Amino acid sequence: MSKYWSEVVHKLTPYIPGEQPKENISLKLNTNENPYGPSQKVLDSISAASNNQLRLYPDPESDLLKSTISNYYNIPMNSIFVGNGSDEILAFIFQGFFKNNLPILFPDITYSFYPAYCSLYDIKYTRMPLDEKFNIVLEDYLIPNGGIIFPNPNAPTGIPKNLVDIKNLVKINQDSVVVIDEAYVDFGTESAVELVKQYKNLVITQSFSKSRSLAGMRLGCAFGNEDLIEALNRIKNSFNSYPIDRLAQVAGIEAIKDENYFSETGQKIIQARKFLEKELLLMGFQTLPSGANFIFTKHRSKDAAMIFKKLRESGVIVRHFNVPERISQYLRITIGTQEEMRKFISILKMIM
Ligand SMILES: *Cc1c(COP(=O)(O)O)cnc(C)c1O
Repeated sequence: MSKYWSEVVHKLTPYIPGEQPKENISLKLNTNENPYGPSQKVLDSISAASNNQLRLYPDPESDLLKSTISNYYNIPMNSIFVGNGSDEILAFIFQGFFKNNLPILFPDITYSFYPAYCSLYDIKYTRMPLDEKFNIVLEDYLIPNGGIIFPNPNAPTGIPKNLVDIKNLVKINQDSVVVIDEAYVDFGTESAVELVKQYKNLVITQSFSKSRSLAGMRLGCAFGNEDLIEALNRIKNSFNSYPIDRLAQVAGIEAIKDENYFSETGQKIIQARKFLEKELLLMGFQTLPSGANFIFTKHRSKDAAMIFKKLRESGVIVRHFNVPERISQYLRITIGTQEEMRKFISILKMIM
């Protein structure tokens, strides 16, 4: 606290990111990073761009990156926005679409950055309870609101929603913007990107951090009707007109173009997830159905905080959320390679 702070700073409740440990950790399964590195083509493009040109500002519009994304998804360029991580895009979305009289709606168990943006921008929100199986109940969202946002699949549960349900929501909820945060969509969940051509009130955000192995680069994109994208551009150009650096632009282009590497690594992660789910079941864990590169699981008798602590002592980090109470017996485990999952299971067997 300081007398020099602006009033808003006193009221902030910042997001707490997953730990990036400095010491040696043998298995880092806590922040949903991709166990495979970026494709060789991405690494080569970064090396090639590491030259004297770095003295120049990057293309402020990231046009080549946007046109590559446009070709890949068959979405016009003026319906695409790119940002310095999808978290930055979400910050623009909250400021651009959610500062309304009515509260925005999001699930009671979801990405904990959403309430942090609400505190930053002074946005009212209502947390909508998940059902007893941790599903988002979209019928409950058909009430007057200042906007709707949820991840698909949801985090940290990993549970996906199908496209038909999302389409119905967007169709009925025409008076405010619906945002689907597709950070994990590439791990076996249906994307709603196609729907932005049809509905003027829909924004989809995606991230290069998970399925495209570029968490260290900070790159994300959003899709929406051109009017909505125009609003995001206005905010961006009032904040930082060069958010995507030269290296991130070329890396993003190659990450999209190398479709083979993307689908191969994605399939391997889905296979490793199935392996992990099967092994955990045999050990007495109950795992929620996942369409993501992580699972949310609890043991039928052993305490989650205890398992977390013992894993940590063995050099393995997973994620444990103490609040809300309802998820305090769950652990969120990032999917690694098949080999890492075998190693994880053998360590887990030892400590149990
Ligand atoms: C990881 C994550 C993001 C942010 O991704 P970045 O592109 O790295 O900023 C957004 N939403 C959810 C639900 C996430 O888990």
